[in-house]
Amino acid sequence: MIVLCAHRLYTPLQEVQNSLVFIEDGIISAVSSRAQQEIPKNATVVDLTRDFAGAILAPGFVDIHMHGGAGLDVMRASPAELPHLNQFLATHGVTGYFPTTVAAPLDQTCQALELLADAIEAAPDLKPSNGGKVQARPLGIHLEGPFLSHKRRGVHPPEYLVEPTVQIFNRLWQAARGHVRMMTIAPELPGALEVIAEAARRNICVSIGHSDSTLEIARAAVQAGARHATHTFNAMRPLDHREPGIIGEVLANGDISADVIADGIHVAPEVVQIFLKAKGLERAVLITDATAAAGMPDGTYQLGPIQVDVKNGRCTIHGEPDGKLAGSVLTMDKAVRNLTQFAGWSLQNAVRAATLNPTRAAGLPQHGQLSPGAEANIVVLSPNGEVRRTFVRGRGL
Ligand SMILES: [Zn+2]
Repeated sequence: MIVLCAHRLYTPLQEVQNSLVFIEDGIISAVSSRAQQEIPKNATVVDLTRDFAGAILAPGFVDIHMHGGAGLDVMRASPAELPHLNQFLATHGVTGYFPTTVAAPLDQTCQALELLADAIEAAPDLKPSNGGKVQARPLGIHLEGPFLSHKRRGVHPPEYLVEPTVQIFNRLWQAARGHVRMMTIAPELPGALEVIAEAARRNICVSIGHSDSTLEIARAAVQAGARHATHTFNAMRPLDHREPGIIGEVLANGDISADVIADGIHVAPEVVQIFLKAKGLERAVLITDATAAAGMPDGTYQLGPIQVDVKNGRCTIHGEPDGKLAGSVLTMDKAVRNLTQFAGWSLQNAVRAATLNPTRAAGLPQHGQLSPGAEANIVVLSPNGEVRRTFVRGRGL
């Protein structure tokens, strides 16, 4: 048994002072405080209070919308390259993520899905390699496309968008060997409601987005089984006070969760505040929508089938300096710190939007919380949210 000691922890629903986390075989067996529980004599004690002033333990961040980082794109990285991306993510506090596709030729998408399924199936046995560096794990696949609106496609290439059919959805599902856990879909497309119902039946977190939908159609999508919304405000019909559209449903419906790119570029900080007030502590989710350019210098990078230019933190479609935003260079730890600055949220609540909220939305009960039975996926934070250490299933301790 390993016992991890720190000044504080966020479960994240509760804060525990002088905290202890008991870990057995990579799984948390108990969470407690020194006052409440003795440390067994045979336990290995890892005392973080000696190494880091004010160390805070939190669940590892889970990014449910991520296209790449450290120069690697999840649709193109080879199995040998993926560990490099996974290490990069872990240095930013991410312990689990959904590699996210971009609309591409169906054959190419299916090839990418097969490789990602391999990576997901191999991940539980991941041995600490490359000097034992900790690696984030791909937990499931997010299909962003191909069922997206032409009008609100963002940078997804128009030639690769297709109308939703259960047949095409099945082809993608089979290529991914059932590892699709999330799907972004525009509900106004012909056939979309049927595909939403089928995906929801397979426990996929169906997320409405890249959509020009009216409020009524968005509501019908929720009725059909959609329960989340993708990068709220971006690639959506804008909110109008008399024609609220999809955003009206996303913000007003207290039963669905929604995510936002809190980099200060995709959505103004004030609008992030409005989003947080609408979705509240329980249903606001942070994503990065990061591309291969995250963690890299300015330059040109791949995003699925397209190229993107990065300058001064803005990621735009290649060759169009004032062009459409094409994903981000955001990291999850930065997104968490931004929430504390944009909206005055406490670090504890900001952590929740990067941990428990996304894992509840995506149906990952063993992730996103420090509680008995959960995987020992833990990030050590400084009081202002800087990542000091990351542990994945107890590895790295
Ligand atoms: Zn994306």
